[in-house]
Amino acid sequence: MKVGIIGGGIVGKTTAHYLTKEGMEVVLFDDDKGQATKASAGIISPWLSQRRNQNWYNLARMGAKLYPSLIAELDEQAALSYQQVGTLMFKKNPKTLDKTLAIGTKRLLESPEIGNVKKVTPEEINALYPELTTNEEAVFLSGGARVDGKSLLESLTRTIQQQGGTIKNERVSSIVRKNDQWLVSTNNEQETFDYIVLAVGPWLSELLTPLGFEVDVRPQKGQLLVFHHENTRSKLPVVIPTGEGDIIPIGDDKLLIGATHENEQDFDLTVDISATQEMFNNLHHYLPDVSMDDLKEVRVGTRAYTSDFLPFFGFIPHTTQLLVASGLGSSGLTTGPMIGKMLAQLITKQPTELDATNYSPDPYITPLH
Ligand SMILES: Cc1cc2nc3c(=O)[nH]c(=O)nc-3n(C[C@H](O)[C@H](O)[C@H](O)COP(=O)(O)OP(=O)(O)OC[C@H]3O[C@@H](n4cnc5c(N)ncnc54)[C@H](O)[C@@H]3O)c2cc1C
Repeated sequence: MKVGIIGGGIVGKTTAHYLTKEGMEVVLFDDDKGQATKASAGIISPWLSQRRNQNWYNLARMGAKLYPSLIAELDEQAALSYQQVGTLMFKKNPKTLDKTLAIGTKRLLESPEIGNVKKVTPEEINALYPELTTNEEAVFLSGGARVDGKSLLESLTRTIQQQGGTIKNERVSSIVRKNDQWLVSTNNEQETFDYIVLAVGPWLSELLTPLGFEVDVRPQKGQLLVFHHENTRSKLPVVIPTGEGDIIPIGDDKLLIGATHENEQDFDLTVDISATQEMFNNLHHYLPDVSMDDLKEVRVGTRAYTSDFLPFFGFIPHTTQLLVASGLGSSGLTTGPMIGKMLAQLITKQPTELDATNYSPDPYITPLH
């Protein structure tokens, strides 16, 4: 059984990892075109979310839970790319903070990986993150993590290759059903596969419209600021402040602030500092010594969104042996590995960790009439 995976972000590469681990023949095509995974802020901390959709929450909590075992299956660099540093979450209103604490405490029962959940005073915050200026209380979760998406993809690439998989740095121009197989065309070659997995993020309609499908996925631009900051050390918690722009200290004097959510920019990957102003102003409230002169890099990526902001994955209806995952939005680094694992389970006909029918591509990919 030969599987072609198109797209080498977190979804494509974790699917390839779990399939090659089972001994499947896998070829992954990726054109490395400004993917979201590499630009990501890498916050893995879904447990305090107030999103009401239970299917989304289950996917996110299972994704966060999967990380330590996924990392253990990869190389030493992966162990460095993922760290449980804890999360500090602020809320404008003390009542909302209490509600957030109650949510975390309740969810701890089914998700012990949350670690410790507690309300912390400004003095306790000072002990956790001495440079952070605040006179507010926050909720602290010790199980919150951050992952360096780019570094994780590099580890996945090496592991996939060691497990016998092939990775081709090429753009797929079309997929066509031919003699009970899928024919994949790139600029250089054509190759046939028994199964295809489309893990192309927001670029899905390019491959599915020619097959007669309408696709409910739109691109969203995200920009992330990378600062040099003398006072940043590793092991400081991730901060989810009130207002725009999460604060992610990643050691080696590096501080990430992000990210913007720009809906009208299509697939534009150019840096536009003006769109990051609100995030920077908010950062100043918590870390007044960071200045725009310390800005080292702006990372830009394109997220994929559906009209109800929910991700989907599984077999595409009205086709054969064609699978897809997209619409992961702002939490795709959290949900992506679990989606990749379940795509592999669908192909190898094993039971999936969650009921895959709850995430069906059906409403998002419909035949054109
Ligand atoms: C700035 C920013 C910050 C973020 N922060 C967080 C965070 O803190 N926590 C979190 O959980 N999530 C975060 N996200 C979201 C997360 O990064 C994404 O949801 C996730 O990475 C999407 O993964 P993916 O594999 O679906 O797509 P991608 O990572 O976009 O990968 C798709 C790949 O497919 C390739 N491709 C497309 N078409 C073709 C083709 N025809 N042929 C070959 N290759 C093709 C693309 O070039 C790309 O490499 C953030 C996103 C951004 C942009």
